Amino acid sequence: MRKLWILCLTGFILSGCSSKSNTPYIAPEVNSVYYEIYVGSFYDSDGDGMGDLSGVLEKLDYIQYDLGATGIWLMPINPSPTYHKYDVVDYKGIDQAYGSMEDFNQLIAAMNERGMDLILDLVLNHSSAQHPWFIKAKNAVLNNTCDTVKECDYYIFEKTSYPGFTQLTQDVWYESVFWDQMPDLNLDNESLREEILDIAKFWLDKGVKGFRLDATTHFYQENSSLNIEFLNWFNDEVKAIRNDAYLVGEAWTGESIVTRMYESKIDSFFNFGFAQNSGRIVRALRNEKGHDLAKYTQHYQETIRSYNEHAIDAIFLSNHDNDRSAGYLLDENQKKMAANVYLLMPGNVFLYYGEEIAMRGSGIDENKRMPMLWSKTDKTGKTFGPSNANYTLRDPQYVDDAMKDKDSLWNHYKKVISVRNKYSSIARGDVISLDLGHSELYALDHGDVIVIHNLSNKTLSYQKDYREVVSVYGNISSKGNNITMEGYSTLVIVK
Ligand code: CA
Repeated sequence: MRKLWILCLTGFILSGCSSKSNTPYIAPEVNSVYYEIYVGSFYDSDGDGMGDLSGVLEKLDYIQYDLGATGIWLMPINPSPTYHKYDVVDYKGIDQAYGSMEDFNQLIAAMNERGMDLILDLVLNHSSAQHPWFIKAKNAVLNNTCDTVKECDYYIFEKTSYPGFTQLTQDVWYESVFWDQMPDLNLDNESLREEILDIAKFWLDKGVKGFRLDATTHFYQENSSLNIEFLNWFNDEVKAIRNDAYLVGEAWTGESIVTRMYESKIDSFFNFGFAQNSGRIVRALRNEKGHDLAKYTQHYQETIRSYNEHAIDAIFLSNHDNDRSAGYLLDENQKKMAANVYLLMPGNVFLYYGEEIAMRGSGIDENKRMPMLWSKTDKTGKTFGPSNANYTLRDPQYVDDAMKDKDSLWNHYKKVISVRNKYSSIARGDVISLDLGHSELYALDHGDVIVIHNLSNKTLSYQKDYREVVSVYGNISSKGNNITMEGYSTLVIVK
């Protein structure tokens, strides 16, 4: 149990308190809400237009108290030649566009003081071609001195061309599946594995909770057994450094492979099958198949826990690689019901910055990573946003207006997250789907509570005993053990 009250005492240290209200913050028993941030577009603290780590620090009140998130996933912050920074030049450094190590130290100290968890993006499939390891390896290949240069074996050089390889000399190619500037690392090399653990320890020692592992299915080119073996090794080593560390993997592939990846004992893998425009959540909304979604959610939970009894599903609607959901969830009910469904699912939830103000963005990646719209006057991204992005796509409410509008999507997200944080069994209970006699109703029993959504526009009634009915959205009435839910509504039953 970790239920503490942090009181806002005017005139005292305010680092952990919202300056906007005197409402005490009650920390949830379980931290299960991560906020995903692309730092360059989030908040600029020093007026150069580029979002930075001090900007994240300044917005911790927004993330924790205003919105209710309990953790943050920062997309890569290491030095890198690209705007997206998924090609790392120094795994122990901070990209100077985002600030300094001192800025990072301040951010992690503030988050730990608040009881917030920070996970960092760790890109192990490949480095930048400008990483000193690759420069050494490349020079050794060119000079024929690989016998004495260990970095040659950090990468995968071949004397033949294969798909996904880049030519270096007349008869040498290197593996670079994503891009010629992202040479794939040879994760079998013992010395490289030591470097990787040294990097992990460096950040864990600073107080980081864990890592989001990029592109795990590419570690050994879709060879699941080898990918699982590597992840299992990494998991054991990381947990030996910090036993409550949290690891979440990106395995953007078919569901049967994703679920099997849990054999590695990595805590979580992103649930791509439930996410995005084509995923199970949005499909259930469109087809009004609530009961099928609840049944499948139970099945998915049972499947991942058959591989790892401590598995924690990682649920999201959209992320930095996907079209933003406001572009395809066009009416207000769809946006709010999608939020209700995913934000009240078992596991950890990952909310992509800007989703709460219905920011839009689709097509090229830059469009999905545009500057957060804080207010009409905020300058974040005005001069250094992703350079190819189509800024006219955004068209949402500004955060400052949305917070004042009681009917806004923003205030809806805040409410649903507060319900999730209040009842910890929503995140961690064993779930069983319930049949309430209507295929449109999603009803999932989490042990102490039952989450019920009406995914249709019809008014539906059913019989259910309850101690308390918590209304989350829409019109709901209860009399005796009869509960009536109008179209597009959500409630939580406390048993
Ligand atoms: Ca800045």
